[in-house]
Amino acid sequence: MKLNQNFSKLGDNYLFAEVERRVTAYKTEFPQADVISLGIGDVTQPLSMKVVDACKNAATELSMRAGFRGYGPYDGYPFLKNAIIDYYKLRGIDNIHPDEVFVTDGAKNGIGNFLDLFSPKCTVLIPDPVYPAYVDANVMAGHKIIYLDGRENNFLPMPPARVKADIIYICSPNNPTGAAYTVEQLKAWVDYALDTDAVILYDAAYESYIEGSDAARSIFQVTGARDCAVEICSFSKMSGFTGVRCGWNIIPMNSPLNRMWLRRQAVKFNGTSYVVQRMAESALRGGYEDTKKMVEVYRSNAKLITKLFDKLKIQYVGGVHAPYVWFYTGVDSGEFFDYLLKKARIVSTPGSGFGKNCNGWMRITSFNTPERTAEAVKRFETFWKEFVEVKDKVLTCL
Ligand code: PLP
Repeated sequence: MKLNQNFSKLGDNYLFAEVERRVTAYKTEFPQADVISLGIGDVTQPLSMKVVDACKNAATELSMRAGFRGYGPYDGYPFLKNAIIDYYKLRGIDNIHPDEVFVTDGAKNGIGNFLDLFSPKCTVLIPDPVYPAYVDANVMAGHKIIYLDGRENNFLPMPPARVKADIIYICSPNNPTGAAYTVEQLKAWVDYALDTDAVILYDAAYESYIEGSDAARSIFQVTGARDCAVEICSFSKMSGFTGVRCGWNIIPMNSPLNRMWLRRQAVKFNGTSYVVQRMAESALRGGYEDTKKMVEVYRSNAKLITKLFDKLKIQYVGGVHAPYVWFYTGVDSGEFFDYLLKKARIVSTPGSGFGKNCNGWMRITSFNTPERTAEAVKRFETFWKEFVEVKDKVLTCL
């Protein structure tokens, strides 16, 4: 077999699989342990009943001759595209055309499959740390990767001087750091992309967590972005759709990527299911109040965590505009992960898994119930006081 040799360049373990492996090993050894998960970035709240009703109604429609539907449009049904366009209008972006909206079965596919449109000779700029799928998808595609160290700017890297790339990844609010760009900061990226003839793949999967107007909610708030950017978004974290699967890409019509993506989807994707699209429509329309409430729960969990971190004077970013808090421990991330699990029965995620420059950092998420988050915060406070006392004796300090 002539296989894609790029696969042999992938790291051995996908980060979350490794976390899962260690937690399973711990639970096997201590089956009675009450473990609180603040690790994997998966939602925990059940779906809105309005969204569930939309699901039932859509399924019932399909059971009737008049309402039955087979294959849908490759790029999504107009009812969902229009709901997405109206969602952008709420944020002052009122120039998105229905042909620019592509419904997907989630942002991971919207991001990963998008690489089909580019030459294998591309050079890509990827912030470090970042959502690991960007790196792995580009390794598979054989692209040259240049990492951008964001530490010096609160984990928000700015355009590098004298570097030419073809594709730029921006994730804002960021996974794992929770840091979010302002419109002015994004303007620097848009200008850079226009100057260097690059495309920005802007991942806005957490835009619904943004509070107030400090942070940008869309790359299309920036003048010039329609000439250089594609936006990818998701219902996963805003409406609890991680298992339901729905997202969207916005690709301006003046870009050749628009027609190419339609062609790509027509060949390799037969559309997101009708039922799911009706659920997604409900999440933005009749069920939108529930969508906002769901996000609010995770936001207030994040505030519980950052309040404690302020009290303990822990160095962190995120927690505002994002369900992630990214904090510094001063010790090896993998060891800290094990120590926190063992001493406080809390699952976190080692920062070292998200980038080359992140040993010592950890990510915890607010994706849990308010009660479990409060319990985790209580445990963490006791844990941290002890950890500070003993860290240089029991863990590898950096
Ligand atoms: N983009 C980022 C930054 C994410 O953190 C995630 C999931 O955690 C995704 C995309 C994937 O989202 P989806 O569930 O829509 O595939």
